[in-house]
Amino acid sequence: MTTFAELTTTGVSRATADLVEPADREALADAYRGLVDAGEPFLVIAGGSNTVVADEGFAGRVLRVSTRGIEREDDGDEVLLRVDAGESWSALVDRAVDDGLSGIEALAGIPGSVGAAPVQNIGAYGQELADVLERIELLEADTGEAVWLDADELGLGYRTSSLKRGEHRGLVLRVELRLRRVDGEAGAPVQYAQLAKALGVELGARVGVREQRDAVLALRASKGMVLDADDPDTRSTGSFFMNPIVHREFAIDLPADAPRFDAGVDDEGRELVKLSAAWLIDHAGVHRGTALPGSRAAISSKHTLAITNRGGATAEEVAQLARFVVARVVQEFGVILRPEANLIGIEV
Ligand SMILES: Cc1cc2nc3c(=O)[nH]c(=O)nc-3n(C[C@H](O)[C@H](O)[C@H](O)COP(=O)(O)OP(=O)(O)OC[C@H]3O[C@@H](n4cnc5c(N)ncnc54)[C@H](O)[C@@H]3O)c2cc1C
Repeated sequence: MTTFAELTTTGVSRATADLVEPADREALADAYRGLVDAGEPFLVIAGGSNTVVADEGFAGRVLRVSTRGIEREDDGDEVLLRVDAGESWSALVDRAVDDGLSGIEALAGIPGSVGAAPVQNIGAYGQELADVLERIELLEADTGEAVWLDADELGLGYRTSSLKRGEHRGLVLRVELRLRRVDGEAGAPVQYAQLAKALGVELGARVGVREQRDAVLALRASKGMVLDADDPDTRSTGSFFMNPIVHREFAIDLPADAPRFDAGVDDEGRELVKLSAAWLIDHAGVHRGTALPGSRAAISSKHTLAITNRGGATAEEVAQLARFVVARVVQEFGVILRPEANLIGIEV
């Protein structure tokens, strides 16, 4: 019997999962079609690093994606990697780095599976999946057919995609990435100020893929953002909240030192800016290590964006702390934080 606590990195919910875990891609596709045809609710889970399930569990079957396989196709200076959904994302980055391939070195250490990566267009330290994603193989819920969709059909944006928004319904079977072969030469430019500082280079400079990967891993570890069984700060979903995107005129009323970054324009051409959720939380008085009285859930001791399980926490304790954070930030700044994590049976 597997509990949701065992299936997810936050490690909450002792309810057992009615689990089906097919061994290969064909069996996975068959299982998915069967679940869709049955017409009952079901849940797809892979690494469980972006999912929190209620203490009551989930009333339906749970399809776990753990299919393996990597194909490589060389195309001049570029390399296409066609990867099964259940492969580990961070292991894939390590393999690419070992093979002298560039494009995902700053995405090192992000937990979870390759198949979930397009769902929220994973990103970190100046890179995001959209930069290298060629296409995905999607088993469509409506037709039961597996189709290849190009990256530009997926409406990829900041921590979002057509999959996450429910505009495409289906199961990601494979992901195809286009990376650049650099061998011993410098890799992708460093696109994040803190990373450039850690590497001792100017923003935009190119460094070796291994060098950039290692610097990212060190920075992530210092923030509890790489899974480590000995570090309770990593018992989380990483960032629990997304950085809010607001109209520029709204942001004018925020304190001058509140970080803000250009985020394009909305459908009506109004300018948007992205705010820092970590800054808003901290400046609303919710600091690192904050826990509600008697609760075993706490803000990470290294980072205000992560809600962590300090040992034996319930999903409800995580949810209560999340609601507290949302309430404090609304009260202080009038900004509503939205969860980045996939919450099952939990209202925040
Ligand atoms: C310590 C830590 C640090 C993190 N840092 C980052 C970061 O820097 N950047 C970032 O973007 N994210 C980060 N995350 C979040 C998380 O790692 C990513 O969102 C990851 O892609 C989730 O993968 P998973 O396999 O664990 O997904 P799960 O939690 O298993 O699933 C997430 C969602 O994807 C769906 N899904 C899973 N597999 C498939 C599939 N094959 N087809 C269709 N839908 C599917 C699920 O139904 C669910 O809705 C972090 C998490 C942790 C714990």
